[in-house]
Amino acid sequence: MTSATRVLVLNSGSSSVKYQLLDMRDGSRLAVGLVERIGEGASRLAHTPAGGAPRERTAPVAGHEAALGAVAEELAADGLGLDSPELAAIGHRVVHGGLRFTEPTVVTDEVLAEVERLVPVAPLHNPANIVGIRTARALRPDLPQVAVFDTAFHTTMPEYAARYAIDVETADAHRIRRYGFHGTSHAYVSRETARLLGRDPSEVNVIVLHLGNGASASAVAGGRCVDTSMGLTPLEGLVMGTRSGDVDPAVTFHLRRVAGMSVDEIDELLNRRSGLVGLCGDNDMREIRRRIDGGDERARLAFDVYVHRLKKYIGAYCAVLGRVDALAFTAGVGENAAPVREAAVEGLEGLGLAVDAELNAVRSGGPRLISPAGARVAVAVVPTDEELEIARQAYSLVNR
Ligand code: ADP
Repeated sequence: MTSATRVLVLNSGSSSVKYQLLDMRDGSRLAVGLVERIGEGASRLAHTPAGGAPRERTAPVAGHEAALGAVAEELAADGLGLDSPELAAIGHRVVHGGLRFTEPTVVTDEVLAEVERLVPVAPLHNPANIVGIRTARALRPDLPQVAVFDTAFHTTMPEYAARYAIDVETADAHRIRRYGFHGTSHAYVSRETARLLGRDPSEVNVIVLHLGNGASASAVAGGRCVDTSMGLTPLEGLVMGTRSGDVDPAVTFHLRRVAGMSVDEIDELLNRRSGLVGLCGDNDMREIRRRIDGGDERARLAFDVYVHRLKKYIGAYCAVLGRVDALAFTAGVGENAAPVREAAVEGLEGLGLAVDAELNAVRSGGPRLISPAGARVAVAVVPTDEELEIARQAYSLVNR
């Protein structure tokens, strides 16, 4: 047990660090901020203390160590320094936890070594997460550093949902299977959806649609994930801002053999130049809606491809779950884009799904129902809060 009540949450990317300091007595934010363009000469630091004015500056930040140093300085300027005895833990978002990490885990040398062994399956994310953890450990070696894994919530998927139908020996030798991502968000949102319905998570079956720039769907039965749309990497599944989601795997052979592209070029095409941006040049749903309103056909097609894929996953997860109690929309698009929500359930009355136009049009930052009164399946908008979930998981681990 600790009497300290604050948790610092760090989300370390390859060239950025996002952070939030939370007070676990009520989950409130004491400060939020980010350092971006690390190692690029002119890095940008933005810091906002609770109830205070945002501060922003541009300065050279050579690496993650310097970035965390800058974060520590900003926090100290508000009397929230990292040396404070009020700090109970630092919670780290770690993208890939493989099969081993099914729970939040206090970081040890052995845990770090295992996260490092997973780099080949998460080459874009895990290295930055590891640097973030190492740096924070050096700064406060006495403090528990807790790793919270994006994949953890999905480790309950049954084997038949996690397996690709490829040669088992080859798959196992290279740890090729469906891991899923955005797990912290799916866990939080499925639980909050149950709360919105006034029921225990163990009693309800929920389909969660996390629609941000990255997007994924999950089927959650009684609080446990039974299927999710992302796979070995975050490329599989829904159409995203810049990622293709599902394609025939033979498209990649074709691009290699017929279009003469290298593997790196194909990787870049499917991860960065596909999805909404590939279809119409924009990945922001607000801009796409504006273009549609102006009669733009490419934007219309991009929207229709996006929604069609969503519908297919909703239908698939109705089948996977058998009984669905709620469908929850979350993240940037899910929380804000009423036309996406409307189009995604249009024509699905046979599955018990519908939205009420007036409720769907309400703008609010809180969880809310948008299905008509008495609907068989509750359709909801449930804002996600990955930082709060990471902080809660880290805090409950150090308070066991
Ligand atoms: P990330 O995956 O980067 O965390 P977010 O969950 O913040 O993404 O979602 C970002 C996306 O949300 C934007 O690219 C944009 O398409 C969409 N979005 C944000 N605000 C709105 C809005 N008011 N209306 C429609 N779409 C929005």
